[in-house]
Amino acid sequence: MTDRRKFLKTAALGGAALSLGINATAADADDEKNKKKKRIPLEPFKGGLVLSTWDAGISANQAAWNTLTAGGKALDMAEKGVNDTEADFRNLSVGLGGLPDREGHTTLDACIMDSNGMAGSVMFLEHIKHPASVARRVMEKTPHVQLVGEGAYRFAISEGFPHDDFVSEEAQNAWKKWLKESKYQPIINIENHDTIGLLAMDNNGDIAGACTTSGLAYKIRGRVGDSPIIGAGLYVDNEIGAATSTGLGEAVVRTCGSFLVVELMRQGATPQQACEEAVIRIQKRHRNFQDFQVGFLAVNKAGEIGAYAVQPGFTYALYKNGENKLFKSGSLIPSK
Ligand code: ASP
Repeated sequence: MTDRRKFLKTAALGGAALSLGINATAADADDEKNKKKKRIPLEPFKGGLVLSTWDAGISANQAAWNTLTAGGKALDMAEKGVNDTEADFRNLSVGLGGLPDREGHTTLDACIMDSNGMAGSVMFLEHIKHPASVARRVMEKTPHVQLVGEGAYRFAISEGFPHDDFVSEEAQNAWKKWLKESKYQPIINIENHDTIGLLAMDNNGDIAGACTTSGLAYKIRGRVGDSPIIGAGLYVDNEIGAATSTGLGEAVVRTCGSFLVVELMRQGATPQQACEEAVIRIQKRHRNFQDFQVGFLAVNKAGEIGAYAVQPGFTYALYKNGENKLFKSGSLIPSK
């Protein structure tokens, strides 16, 4: 905690000096030297690692790990890992089984980012089982980063992804129940919203990530959250580390959450310090932060990880050193 405070103070002072254009003092020069030292990339962790959001992360991590042992690279691990969750139609917050928008349609958002800084994303995509794989094709086969709606769907079909008419009875029933009151309110940690964000490191120490969701339940048709937005729901910088988020996407988009976490790590923060600072930033910008959940996960080049959330109850799965385990993240609002 003391360390975190020290870091936050340093970060705040650095920021003030920059924005006011104050001349560098000796202390500033020292700080500069320190920052440069800290920017030297950390020794990469080469043992392989998978870190992902929520309980479904355990199964996703396993799929990613199997991909690694079959010779896959970080990008393959990230894609195959989240494909596992997308294919589980019982999941009410990821893939075609996800809770629908207000008009009863399930719409999907996903993005992917490679170790070389390339990225792809799809938003407001319907009838496609694996949006994260379509995002990968956007990255690899087009000059673009983002495709949305009908265009994303047509691209997916042209790439050979099958049209899928699956409709989850459970999700439809929940929506019909919701229609009776039509009350729009994020519910903390329950299956109103969740996402799988997965960060993967391969045996070279290279990092990639993917994030995929059906978004906020009962959203206005066309709404897109943080999950498919590079820098919000996911960010990978292979020199520094990676971050992903889950929870109320609007709050993460407003603060460029995942990019913020990675940049804080670049300035010397540990993954844990960076996740905590990003949550504090959300707290500062949102008077109603007590009413919603946001959680961040981060990994740095050395394979150290961080996790922090606004509310208690955020879980994450870590596959490292031969073990795949579920953990409870710390939170700004303490558990009762
Ligand atoms: N972040 C997702 C969104 O806002 C939902 C979630 O993770 O709960 O669409």
